[in-house]
Amino acid sequence: MKRRNFIKNASLTGLGVVASSAAISCKNPSEEIIEKPTMKQTKKPTPIAICTWRFTEANATAGKALKAGKAALDAAIAGVEVEEENLKNTTVGIGGTPDREGNVTLDACVMNADGNCGSVLCVSTTKNVAALARKVMEETPHVMLAGEGAEAFAYEQGFEKENLLTDTAREAWQEWLKTSEYKPIINIENHDTIGMLTLDTNGDIAGACSTSGLSYKMKGRVGDSPIIGSGLFVDNEVGGAVATGMGEEILKTVGSFLIVELMRNGLSPQAACEEAVRRIVIKNENYKDFQVAYIALNKDGETGAYCIHEGFTMMKYQNGENEAIAVDFYHKK
Ligand code: ASP
Repeated sequence: MKRRNFIKNASLTGLGVVASSAAISCKNPSEEIIEKPTMKQTKKPTPIAICTWRFTEANATAGKALKAGKAALDAAIAGVEVEEENLKNTTVGIGGTPDREGNVTLDACVMNADGNCGSVLCVSTTKNVAALARKVMEETPHVMLAGEGAEAFAYEQGFEKENLLTDTAREAWQEWLKTSEYKPIINIENHDTIGMLTLDTNGDIAGACSTSGLSYKMKGRVGDSPIIGSGLFVDNEVGGAVATGMGEEILKTVGSFLIVELMRNGLSPQAACEEAVRRIVIKNENYKDFQVAYIALNKDGETGAYCIHEGFTMMKYQNGENEAIAVDFYHKK
């Protein structure tokens, strides 16, 4: 049995559920002695799905999948796919706004309860990039694939080749070219990257993040969304976090990893998100010009969210209810 599976099985059989930092030894001499980190979770959780922005249907899809007993990562990917396929969404998947040269390039990553992760960058010919990131995690020896290599791998895996630039997005881009002014808009159309965290009936946490990145970015630009630790991080012993907004600022502070580490050290998801936002604004006099938002979920099913500017919403599905939560913000005018 692999070390990772051994840890999981130990916790499922009850060995690891009780808060303990004691070593668990296994009778099989070929197995290592494993230090089981403290697990706070004491009761069987009700499933929870949370996601960035008012992606109501995506979050409900994930929540219902969890309720039906689906594993955390399956549910997160099913949820995110709703927006990857939504032609009207100009910031995720097909229909996304292109870079300044007219190329739609998608970024995504996933992370599961075992601490495994996969990521794809600058994918321009297939829309279900979160599922593709999962394939990278499961079917390759790598964590990240970019550009043409990721696309070739996608076809090998049976993903459909598609033109991601819709007529509407092309027309908007042609309009933009008239001024070519690059100024990312705060809360663009009130929806943006979809980042999702899920807690399943086993108490396992996973996450997925998918985006077309900033509108009219430079060709080749990649933000935080496919970068494990920045756009998304999950540690199944602690919880998870995802980000949306100005990717450059999230990258500089490795925001999602920071939030999970703060939760590990005892902060609530809410306090951890607030601290991660604070780390950005204290170093940026120009924070008034950009949005960053985080959401987080811990092992006990507590959630939190915080952002720089008013206008960010977190969706939360729990006990059959899918709630839109207006998130508190730093910049009170
Ligand atoms: N974080 C994404 C990026 O920088 C964009 C967004 O969420 O608004 O690519």
